[in-house]
Amino acid sequence: MKDAFGRQIDYLRLSLTERCTLHCTYCRVDEGVCPKIQELSADELILLAEAAVELGITRIRLTGGEPLLRKDLLQIVRGISSLSGLRDLSMTTNAQMLAEIAADLKEAGLDRLNISMDTLNADLFKELTGGSLQKVLDGIQAAIAAGFDPIKINVVLMRGVNDHELDDFIRLTSKYKVDVRFIEYMPIGNSNGSERLRLNNQELITARPWLIPVPPRFNGQPSSDYTYEGALGRVGFISPISHRFCSDCNRIRIMSDGSLRTCLGRDAEIPLREALAEGKDGLKQAISQAILQKPEHHRFDQEVLNGRNMSRIGG
Ligand code: SAM
Repeated sequence: MKDAFGRQIDYLRLSLTERCTLHCTYCRVDEGVCPKIQELSADELILLAEAAVELGITRIRLTGGEPLLRKDLLQIVRGISSLSGLRDLSMTTNAQMLAEIAADLKEAGLDRLNISMDTLNADLFKELTGGSLQKVLDGIQAAIAAGFDPIKINVVLMRGVNDHELDDFIRLTSKYKVDVRFIEYMPIGNSNGSERLRLNNQELITARPWLIPVPPRFNGQPSSDYTYEGALGRVGFISPISHRFCSDCNRIRIMSDGSLRTCLGRDAEIPLREALAEGKDGLKQAISQAILQKPEHHRFDQEVLNGRNMSRIGG
């Protein structure tokens, strides 16, 4: 369906949990143990997805927290991937537990994977996330072996932290058939240091004139994509701060406690639990009303959003 500004809303990011196996410095900032929330059940998530697909959503991304923490993940993937009308089911993961389950996810109907990896240095990886770089690399190999294509690597570049690795990440796309996307650090939740650490993607692109622009894979895709001589995968830049792409925004987000956000860059949320209790028709009504209230622009440039850390929204 279309929102009040004529944008076709066809993409849902569905967060399966706020729990995460990592403590990334830019994502779960100042968070101790996750507060216990009542997560939506597998049946509730599938019903939500079904209602959204009937309203015109054609692509769904599973996210979190860390979606691989859900013990019923394969049931959720099977249920959502079998919805008629859905064209693409993908997942964003930190890949710490991916190697063991990549083939089963493919078999259950997951189409694509995005993997977060902010450095190629094992010590820095440990420092930034608390996790193991080797497990991510094993996860990527298992995902390639399982037939996922394209695999996208998400990198949040931070000034003076990992920005010296930018060209190493680009070179990865000539060794492996993976896309690498550089995401500008967004001021969400407790990420107060984001302005000091943020790099301007437009400047990074201008400094690399050998990058050749290529058309997006999907309508409403947030990254601008590039190729270069010898590349097997793409180089993408997601620039919500330096290059606002709100006029093409096609997405809504539903979080694991059943709240809906129509804009990542605003704190406003619509609770869907009551509508869930009414069943699919009630949900469709609540979601379509929310879509009509989707704001025209995010407000990253005007305020720090304090409602939730990114780990509680899903990116
Ligand atoms: N746990 C999964 C993972 O690590 O990929 C999925 C959830 S994570 C919140 C989703 C994406 O959000 C990741 O690619 C992460 O890098 C990105 N992200 C988190 N905090 C961010 C921030 N402050 N600015 C930009 N991207 C951020």
